[in-house]
Amino acid sequence: MATTSASASALLHHVRTGRARSRAELVALTGSSRNTVSARVDQLIAANLLEEGGRGWSTGGRPPTLLRFNSRAGCVLAVDLGVTSVDVAVTDLSAEILATVGHPIDIADGPEAVLAEVDRLAQVVLAEAGLTPADVCAVGVGVPGPVEFSTGRPVHPPIMPGWHDHPIPSAFGRYDCPVFADNDVNVMALGEMGIAGSTEDVLVIKVGTGIGCGIVVDGQVYRGAQGSAGDIGHISVPPPHGVPVLCRCGNENCLEAIAGGGALLRDALAAGLPVTTTRELVQLAAHGDGPALELVRNAGRTIGTVLASLVNFFNPHRIVMTGGVAQAGPPLLAGIREAVYGRSLPLAARALDISVSAAPDLSGRLGAALMAIEGFLDEDAAYQVARAGAGAPTAR
Ligand SMILES: [Zn+2]
Repeated sequence: MATTSASASALLHHVRTGRARSRAELVALTGSSRNTVSARVDQLIAANLLEEGGRGWSTGGRPPTLLRFNSRAGCVLAVDLGVTSVDVAVTDLSAEILATVGHPIDIADGPEAVLAEVDRLAQVVLAEAGLTPADVCAVGVGVPGPVEFSTGRPVHPPIMPGWHDHPIPSAFGRYDCPVFADNDVNVMALGEMGIAGSTEDVLVIKVGTGIGCGIVVDGQVYRGAQGSAGDIGHISVPPPHGVPVLCRCGNENCLEAIAGGGALLRDALAAGLPVTTTRELVQLAAHGDGPALELVRNAGRTIGTVLASLVNFFNPHRIVMTGGVAQAGPPLLAGIREAVYGRSLPLAARALDISVSAAPDLSGRLGAALMAIEGFLDEDAAYQVARAGAGAPTAR
């Protein structure tokens, strides 16, 4: 969003992020006329999205009336769809969770069955929060596969049989509001950034069964031309011991075929470790088991060689690791840091922070909520003003 714009959504953004607290500050920040700013602020107040409250410090003359974002002007539904479970939350417009519920599902049951369950859970959380479908301003959905963001349709998702080209937004027709769907890594990246206003450049790396990367540029998720930016799992890396490894995509020596969760389990079983799932292997490593530690550290080194290239190319402020394998923590980070700091250019690596997500279970829901909120508030201001004309949305 251009910071010099004086569109209603831009003005709202400045108030939400604390860059401006009064009409005068909005005028100064945008360079627009006092009349233009006042008219749009009045529209936003009529739409219940801004409210006036208190007086600021005067720099001579009458002290200015302060403006506040009304985060209770409506709510959004946040859906974090996984392979074996789904979490549905309802949040206010500052992404504060009002009610949340989780339930086991099997993503392979297909979109009709799974989205019917999501619909049921959404009604449960709305009732728990004392809200109705009419209060919902937007819906955000994170899914474990590639999504064409503009249409909300998954595109040949490898672990979501039956979901190809299914219009996810159509499942939320009862809410009569915009629905945004994106892959889970992009959604988690938004969640890791937290509430709007960040201007950092961040890579959020999810290491689960597969490996993906959410790219955050200046606080915004970067999706690329078709929405597949950050699909680093299929970047080619040198195979261990020079023996080619086949990937599920059909190519050889992809990063996730060598260092993803599935690859770790395969190697652990081949080495005779007493585990049946990746999660068990991660727990074994976390308890200091030597061979498990070595496997995880090696995966970290391999991931790190790819991240080193990304750091040289992108020069991020931060890298955040998330996903099931990231829960191994120190041994994975040790391997990654060794490769990244050993191979990145000093200027790019000097202030680079590499860490594990502090709230990996929450970031999916938080990110889905933020995606919905940003989408709703960035929509054409006329939409909100039209809503205000039809009767202001009241959540509480
Ligand atoms: Zn591949």
